[in-house]
Amino acid sequence: MLQITYYRNKCIGCNGCVEAAPERWRISRADGKSNLINGREKKGIYTTTVNMTEYEENEQAAANCPMRIIKLKVL
Ligand code: SF4
Repeated sequence: MLQITYYRNKCIGCNGCVEAAPERWRISRADGKSNLINGREKKGIYTTTVNMTEYEENEQAAANCPMRIIKLKVL
């Protein structure tokens, strides 16, 4: 399984993650920041655990992110 951790507060809404992994990331209409789909929030940090089939696209999402706020960990 793949754990995705997202430090949402620092998001600048550039859309880079959405371009790489549109099934996991979506820009919020409310505040323009990206949302981690199915992410659970704790103190402003979002996490979710997904199947390894999502690894490549989310690795690209993390690489695209200029703020380096998307972290991946293989469990
Ligand atoms: S790539 Fe990073 S800064 Fe850009 S929208 Fe996604 S999380 Fe936010």
